[in-house]
Amino acid sequence: MSYLTLFFTAHHAHIQCMRFILLTLMFVCAFAGSARAGLTVIRDTEIETTLRSWMTPIWRAAGLNPDAVKLILVSSDDFNAFVAGGSNIFVYTGMLAQTKNPGEILGVLAHETGHIAGGHLIRGRAAMERASYEALLGTILGVAVGVAGGGKAAGGIMMGGQGLGMASFLAHSRVQESSADQAGLRFMQGAGYSPQGMVTLLESMKAQEYRPQGQQTAYLQTHPMTADRLTAMEAGAAKSPFKDKPYPAEWNDAYARIKAKLLGFTSPERVAWVYSDKDTSTPALYAKTIAAYRQSRKEQAVSLADQLIAREPNNPYFHEIKGQMLRDFSDITGAAASYRKAVSLKPDAALIRIDLAQVLVEMAQTQKKPALYREAEDNLDAAYQREQRSSEIQRLYATIYGREGDQPRAQYHLAEQSMLQGRHREATKLLTGALAGMTPGSPDYRKAQDLKVYLDSLPKKDKDEDDERENKRR
Ligand SMILES: [Zn+2]
Repeated sequence: MSYLTLFFTAHHAHIQCMRFILLTLMFVCAFAGSARAGLTVIRDTEIETTLRSWMTPIWRAAGLNPDAVKLILVSSDDFNAFVAGGSNIFVYTGMLAQTKNPGEILGVLAHETGHIAGGHLIRGRAAMERASYEALLGTILGVAVGVAGGGKAAGGIMMGGQGLGMASFLAHSRVQESSADQAGLRFMQGAGYSPQGMVTLLESMKAQEYRPQGQQTAYLQTHPMTADRLTAMEAGAAKSPFKDKPYPAEWNDAYARIKAKLLGFTSPERVAWVYSDKDTSTPALYAKTIAAYRQSRKEQAVSLADQLIAREPNNPYFHEIKGQMLRDFSDITGAAASYRKAVSLKPDAALIRIDLAQVLVEMAQTQKKPALYREAEDNLDAAYQREQRSSEIQRLYATIYGREGDQPRAQYHLAEQSMLQGRHREATKLLTGALAGMTPGSPDYRKAQDLKVYLDSLPKKDKDEDDERENKRR
């Protein structure tokens, strides 16, 4: 998780607001429609892989292509999850932290899958179809969203003040809520899972209903609760043939690791209270490792990471975390070795490949080893197959080609980056420059042409919002 680091370092402008979110568990920052605030999309291979493996049977039962459904983590202590901009399920880390077991996470996600399958979709503007997740979320919430990703490019995206007022914009009707519940139940059954998590989740939401609105979670505001929802859920769950079937035992360990990781990153100072000195379990060691890293206890962090790796030499995430800390402790050669090992253990980990590429690009320059640009490029090519919405990939391509003196190619990738960040006029300008320097008919020229056709097809009002945003920024 290279990602949470930047949450604390890269967004100085928003830090107060984010601390506020962290410390008070409130959602004021995220929801104050008129105020600009910061949120961070967190990309983490381990958490995403775990959740996706649990959810894949549910998505199949829903008749969805699992590859088409995206799970996007958002750093916030609030309990929330929603579907937006197509088949994208946004999951707040607070939801993962506050659930009591994997079944409750499934319950939330099965319900959101019910919204997707039922076509209760909150569509973004046309321009958002190819936007990065952080730009998409920023547009939806009307706040600044950064991505904590692979490096220095994680600047928050300042959106105009046209906050859409998330609670009302994302809220589903009561009818849709009931239908998503029933669909979720069906999918849980189709997947052979117990529906118990959906029941206990609704019970805890029901308990919240009597709190003043300001103390309710965002989830309750966007997913209206009614007494009959719980009754219907209990009745439906009682009929499930799997109602008493336990969730797979190995899920508990994966779940404990997710919680340990989130705690280590978001509240390192609390790790010592939650995990005692005597707790030698792997999740405890994981949390302590991340806390030591986050608190810059360098030697201890590296030594703890080595203990994790000694326990599970083939766990790609332990090598990943070591790579991340070494990078942040300025040992980029060591970082590259750890990231390479992680990639060799999990070749489909696009996000780790992006981190590796970032370190290689830095090494290529500081150690004068231009051959490393090709290794970086290969990793970016592989990562792009799975992460077409990553603006970090485009930034790194542009850096490589810019340093190699290929300005048209660099400009083309900067145009892709601008497009992903929702800055369409800037993308068009960059693209004009790129096309002028390219050989007509070459593969690069054709890619740039394709992007131009797409940008030209966007409605004028989307581009006008670019200008509005730029004017507000000045
Ligand atoms: Zn709902």
